[in-house]
Amino acid sequence: MNTLLPTSIVGSLPKPSWLAEREKLWSPWKLDGEELCEGKRDALSLAVDEQRHAGLDIVSDGEQTRQHFVTTFIEHLNGVDFEQRETVRIRDRYDASVPTVVGAVGRERSVFVDDAKFLRAQTSQPIKWTLPGPMTMIDTLYDKHYRSREKLAWEFAKILNQEAKELEAAGVDIIQFDEPAFNVFFDEMKEWGVAALERAAEGLRSKTAVHICYGYGIKANTDWKATLGSEWRQYEMSFPLLQQSTIDLVSLERHNSRVPVELIELLRGKEVMVGAIDVASGAIETPEEVASTLREVLRFVDADKLYPSTNCGMAPLARQVARDKMIALATGTEMIRAELSGANPLDVTASRGVR
Ligand SMILES: [Zn+2]
Repeated sequence: MNTLLPTSIVGSLPKPSWLAEREKLWSPWKLDGEELCEGKRDALSLAVDEQRHAGLDIVSDGEQTRQHFVTTFIEHLNGVDFEQRETVRIRDRYDASVPTVVGAVGRERSVFVDDAKFLRAQTSQPIKWTLPGPMTMIDTLYDKHYRSREKLAWEFAKILNQEAKELEAAGVDIIQFDEPAFNVFFDEMKEWGVAALERAAEGLRSKTAVHICYGYGIKANTDWKATLGSEWRQYEMSFPLLQQSTIDLVSLERHNSRVPVELIELLRGKEVMVGAIDVASGAIETPEEVASTLREVLRFVDADKLYPSTNCGMAPLARQVARDKMIALATGTEMIRAELSGANPLDVTASRGVR
């Protein structure tokens, strides 16, 4: 990226009320057939406009064409029966009725590539596209076929790699894999999770990112966070593994979370997308709050490797709240850019921190 501290959202934005029920996660579509196709595209264009208006540097589709960040991708694959459902525990946190893997999984045609081409045509700014990570995918399914989490993850990694290569060819600059499962299954992450993620990203020339967070601001997640104590040290397990990985960028949660900021040091050398916007609260951050999060983080991330962002997706928020949060992100970042390029180099040094 040419800009210092390039800003972006993690992934999702709220959908317009004519497309899906408002302020509801995974809300069903209100349109169908041709009208749904057109409605999704219109929503995508609006999402681009809102990001541009806010002044964000990297533009996403706001996940306007998908209902769920994992399931929508899986719906397009062979080998998964959505009629056969079993109840499983998702990320060791909440029970959900999920589809069943009944045969070899495969991808007959691309899933998001047409949408990505549409996004590419809307803007000349760098664009980012999100995909689910292999471990998060297997965690939302009941597997009757492979009967091995590792094997199924590996198959999904190969499929994701095909999709990612087509997204790259469509002009996507950053391909981000969402792996919240990396915040839960540390043994598996170490044994095969990172390898599966690297397989998904293999051979890509686009920049690759992995997003690990403490989830949307929904009750199952806030209840879980309440059990994690005063210091959330989960990243202490995952960051060293990711620091050693081939993935370029790590996207993490920071503002209003109990993640000790110094854990970010474990990623030193990597590019880091830092959440400076809380997605579990409707309160709009002030630009100064955003700036203060970034200032603090700059003690542990080199300025040329810092990407200011949101903690997670903003799908469940009110649209105006999401818009205002994006503006706060851009404005707060601008304050730090001014400080970093400021007339007084001593101030810049101070903000970079003395280790
Ligand atoms: Zn997230």
